[in-house]
Amino acid sequence: MNIHEYQARDLLSSAGVAVPRGAVAKTAEEAEAIARSLPCNSFVVKAQVHAGGRGKGHFVDGYKSGVHLVKTPHQVREVAKHMIGNTLITHQTGPEGKPVHSVLVGESTEIARELYLAIVLDRSSGCPVIVASQQGGMEIETVAEKKPEAILREVIHPGLGLQPYQARKVSIFLGFPSTGLRAPCRLLHAAYRLFIEKDCSQVEINPLAVTKGGDVVALDAKLNFDDNALFRHKEIQDLQDPSQEDPRDLAAAEHHLNYIGLEGNIGCMVNGAGLAMATLDLIQAAGGKPANFLDVGGGASEAMITAAFRLLQADTTVQAIFVNIFGGILKCDLLAQGMIAACRSNPPRVPIIVRLQGTNVEQGRKLLKESGLPLIPAEGLLEGAEKAVAAASGKKGM
Ligand code: GDP
Ligand code: MN
Repeated sequence: MNIHEYQARDLLSSAGVAVPRGAVAKTAEEAEAIARSLPCNSFVVKAQVHAGGRGKGHFVDGYKSGVHLVKTPHQVREVAKHMIGNTLITHQTGPEGKPVHSVLVGESTEIARELYLAIVLDRSSGCPVIVASQQGGMEIETVAEKKPEAILREVIHPGLGLQPYQARKVSIFLGFPSTGLRAPCRLLHAAYRLFIEKDCSQVEINPLAVTKGGDVVALDAKLNFDDNALFRHKEIQDLQDPSQEDPRDLAAAEHHLNYIGLEGNIGCMVNGAGLAMATLDLIQAAGGKPANFLDVGGGASEAMITAAFRLLQADTTVQAIFVNIFGGILKCDLLAQGMIAACRSNPPRVPIIVRLQGTNVEQGRKLLKESGLPLIPAEGLLEGAEKAVAAASGKKGM
């Protein structure tokens, strides 16, 4: 789960990480009032969306950048007026952008150095890892590609926690003098504590700024949380902002479906994450593009199957549906019943390709056949994918 920058700042601040003064505004008037209450003479106004790259982004109406530096509260109001209600497009939002419903108004920081700092879960070592670089402010992926030696990765033993020597090592790598390690070390420990206590999958501070006055502050923060641990953090769940989520993902979450929206036009319904991944690959190999990942799981109920199928049918980008089921615990006849129920209440709008194998496959096929639904059967995996690709492009199979 993602949260907004202003929310991440609050969490970091409570954990003991210094952040610039500021507050969130939902209207241009509120934005101006916040600016007037800040004891400073230059301000930053930042569009709040669940995506990075705002500084280099632009709004759908052509207005430039989601991060503006201005001099007066009146200008803060003008910028906020442009941003709120608008849609910001960055290289992380996709071409449709994300709606801006609020802006963060803060004191502008005088930056001496922009650093990069993140704590993420490293799946290969199974440990948290600190990623640090002096090349902050820009995409870490770009640094990794062009200048990998400019990045330090410090793996933390989850049982031991962040050791003082590791905090010093990272701070020295970030260019702090040996006489000035206290502030960055304290910050690292605070950020690590937050990462563990809130079950984060990512704490990213980019840039971590060293100010002209020598302070170390988190100018931008992105926090991600492990969805599987959210049940023990009600206070984090409350930070959710549905306006920033793909509506398809929200509908799927409501039915506890393992669903991820993608950009293609072939809807997929598969059981088992491995088979679902393989199905996406097969569709790509056959020259098509999947509209989603959907694993209905081993123990799906008929109601879940119906909900899953409805979700695919409601997706207007979907031009064909590929149902690829290997009945193990999930029985093929139950799958067929769920599909038939969904199609009865909502007649199919696009071709449906069905490949069934496994437990009760004969009963399942029989049910589908007798239902009179216009289904396209497939025996093999690649055959199914090819039929789905052909159907989605309107070539054959109809
Ligand atoms: P992002 O583009 O979404 O990552 O948004 P950031 O908050 O990281 O802002 C982008 C860039 O704007 C930063 O790398 C800084 O160079 C600049 N910036 C952001 N806040 C301030 C500020 O308070 N003062 C100054 N001088 N620059 C800032
Ligand atoms: Mn940033």
